[in-house]
Amino acid sequence: MSHLHYEVADGIAHITFQNPPVNGLGHSLRLALVNALDEAEENPEVKAVVMTGSERAFSGGADITEFGTPRSGWQPTLRTVIEIMEAFPKPIIAAIDGVCLGGGLELALGAHYRVAASRARIGLPEVKLGLLPGGGGTQRLPRLVGLERGLSMIVTGEHYTATRLADTPLLDRVVDTPVVEAAAAFAKEIVAQGAPLKRVRDIKIEELDAQAFLQVSRRNLAASSKHFPAPKLCLEAVAACVELPFDEGLKRERELFNTLMTSPESLALRHIFAAERAATKVPGVTRETPRREIRQVGVIGAGTMGGGIAMNFLNVGIPVTILEAKQEALDRGLATIRRNYENTMKKGRLTQNQVEERMALLTPTMSYDDLAQADLIIEAVFEDIGVKEAVFTTLDAIAKPGAILASNTSTLDLNIIAGFTKRPQDVIGLHFFSPANVMKLLEIVRGDQTSPEVLATSLDLAKTIAKKPVVSGVCDGFIGNRMLASYRAAADELLLHGASPAEIDRALENFGFAMGPYRVGDLAGLDIGWAIRKRRQAENPDLDLSCVADRICEAGRFGQKTGAGWYDYSAGNRKPKEDPIVTKMIDDFRAEKGITPRKFTAREIVERCVFALANEGARILEEGIALRASDIDIVYLNGYGFPAHHGGPMHYAQQVGLFNVVRSIKRYARLSDSAAAFWQPAPLLVKHLDSGEPLK
Ligand code: NAD
Repeated sequence: MSHLHYEVADGIAHITFQNPPVNGLGHSLRLALVNALDEAEENPEVKAVVMTGSERAFSGGADITEFGTPRSGWQPTLRTVIEIMEAFPKPIIAAIDGVCLGGGLELALGAHYRVAASRARIGLPEVKLGLLPGGGGTQRLPRLVGLERGLSMIVTGEHYTATRLADTPLLDRVVDTPVVEAAAAFAKEIVAQGAPLKRVRDIKIEELDAQAFLQVSRRNLAASSKHFPAPKLCLEAVAACVELPFDEGLKRERELFNTLMTSPESLALRHIFAAERAATKVPGVTRETPRREIRQVGVIGAGTMGGGIAMNFLNVGIPVTILEAKQEALDRGLATIRRNYENTMKKGRLTQNQVEERMALLTPTMSYDDLAQADLIIEAVFEDIGVKEAVFTTLDAIAKPGAILASNTSTLDLNIIAGFTKRPQDVIGLHFFSPANVMKLLEIVRGDQTSPEVLATSLDLAKTIAKKPVVSGVCDGFIGNRMLASYRAAADELLLHGASPAEIDRALENFGFAMGPYRVGDLAGLDIGWAIRKRRQAENPDLDLSCVADRICEAGRFGQKTGAGWYDYSAGNRKPKEDPIVTKMIDDFRAEKGITPRKFTAREIVERCVFALANEGARILEEGIALRASDIDIVYLNGYGFPAHHGGPMHYAQQVGLFNVVRSIKRYARLSDSAAAFWQPAPLLVKHLDSGEPLK
């Protein structure tokens, strides 16, 4: 039989799933399972069935390659298999080790008994894909673990170890011995006792205050899951297990599941799930590509980025030597790292011992000789090509052969940096985001000569330090900052022609961004951008590059840190207050430029900012800087707070329809208040519009 092993021993039929890596419940496995059950039913020697997976996985749930395809609905569906199991005339015992998630757990709930290894991980994570468990999980799990715990597991999607669930009737036995043997022994006891077949559907939920509990939960969920319908519908499905007879509850679960399956939010979350997996597949890098071992890391520069970057490695037990040019900068950097760890400790997420262990892995130095043994050296010094040249020339002289030399540069040309060494094949960009110990995104910048080995090692390393990597080619700003520049330009154009910072921020926050661009500016500090603009203006004396932001900075308003920026923070908290002084500055600036302000709707504000992102993204894709449209989404979701329920700027543009996006962009180009050069649709968008093909 394909996808499973069937064997009868000592009166017990052993059904072992064999669909690596996680025994996904694809059609072939489902079919094989029903055939095996039929065989076990017909064989009079068989007194009980033990159903199991591997040490790694009982089953991780649906087969993701089948997701959203007609195969997932081919008979026998998961629901049919579960019905057959539940009605089976001989006891079925699920022997659970490894992961038992989603459809995998729903399958196990169809068995009459469950024996689990204490380390097994159990849960219904469907909500994380904007769905609900559609194979009876919402009706069966609460019958076994209680309404409160069942609802919590379904609404959060959190995994529980078997040990944590050992006190519930979900698990008949939790063992530290090999689980299949334990399950077989348990099966023999059941048979010997002539114990009844325990069907979860027959259990009555007895909760005194079920309705009151559901009411409170409804209120809490409405507040916490604003942009996502799935948690609320999970709750309604669970409510059905209290309010309706079992079969009607199943029907209700199915209806709610179907509603979610076609919801834009679930589509977006499933897109992100697939996109994150796709992002690690890079042409030229295969399983066979050799990797280099990273046992020791060097970091140059202990400033904002260097300190955070070092923490990523300390957190996973990799020793770091951190280098600064001046003792005082080194001391400051170390103190910041310690303070960060101590703050985490105060929140109860680290013990004092763990803080000391991590700090002990960190070696401060001012001598490059101490980096000679490092396997990877990441540079995070000032963003100045002269400083980078000095650092990389020295690194070339002292680093051991085969060491990876990485730059955290945000804007400089990685190929030029690689050219400062005689080993450009070992040079790569590792672009972390601030705060580097927190932000999940890692842009891996592949230079013209970066070797596949160095790239493969960097991709693996991202996984080790729990980052989400995306490979980018070399261009000004790489994927993320280049798109950010277009987004900011679209926002500034709106500001110039009549929208206030608060109107723009509010529209984008209602769309789902945690903060609009002007609040972000105030948080990050406006002085850095001002310095860059002053430099550009000095380099281009014939152009007028003046903007409202200059006026704000000229007044000493650098954002939250000075108590004022685009907003007023004089109340001493971070709550932005609109400031008439800023309104006047903007009005005066418009008047000087001869601009008559007009009103913008929230919809137009969002369209302009988000379509500007997608348009720049399409250019990035066309130039081959990004490998695929979904990589661009991953960058913007994880590095720039793009709302997950919209799936990323490229996904969003495709959902709106490229036709509509291009039409809007062309319209903006025709309006007098828009810079026609800025609003040119990317040729790739037009091409896909003509062909009707989706962006890939
Ligand atoms: P920073 O000014 O906070 O830190 C730079 C550190 O480098 C300082 O502590 C300085 O003393 C040290 N330094 C300067 N020259 C040195 C030298 N020759 N040798 C040793 N140490 C030296 O700057 P940052 O914000 O941490 O940025 C560092 C790099 O990271 C830049 O290339 C920047 O573009 C990039 N980056 C910054 C951010 C961000 O949000 N700040 C995000 C991504 C990337």
